[in-house]
Amino acid sequence: MSAPFVVPACRACGHLAYPPRILCPECGAGDWTRTLADSGIVTEVTVRRPVFKRRQLPWGNWLDQEAVRLAAVHVEVGERSVRVIARVPEGVETGDRVTLVAQASTAIALPGQVVEAAPAGPGDPAGGE
Ligand SMILES: [Zn+2]
Repeated sequence: MSAPFVVPACRACGHLAYPPRILCPECGAGDWTRTLADSGIVTEVTVRRPVFKRRQLPWGNWLDQEAVRLAAVHVEVGERSVRVIARVPEGVETGDRVTLVAQASTAIALPGQVVEAAPAGPGDPAGGE
């Protein structure tokens, strides 16, 4: 089950924060909304081969995998930008445009065309637990 990927946006100054924060690092406000961040450009790809599987837990349910490919994805939302760390499948490389989806509180970057998606409102499952 996946959902459109959203990032917190400060209501006071518009700063995008990923991962989410309690207070805005730009202006100190604590009032957040969510904005759609569904596509971006891969700037780095790395493969993580954990020694201790329990250390994978904050990143989601990949206990059965020997290696996980992670990418830094540069996402532009209006005049702002944010870097998102996402799991990527084989074949996604630096410079590729990817579509971001949220899956069990983990960002997944999929190769291919940008899809139209409705803006996600507060309370949708994309950013929550
Ligand atoms: Zn702010």
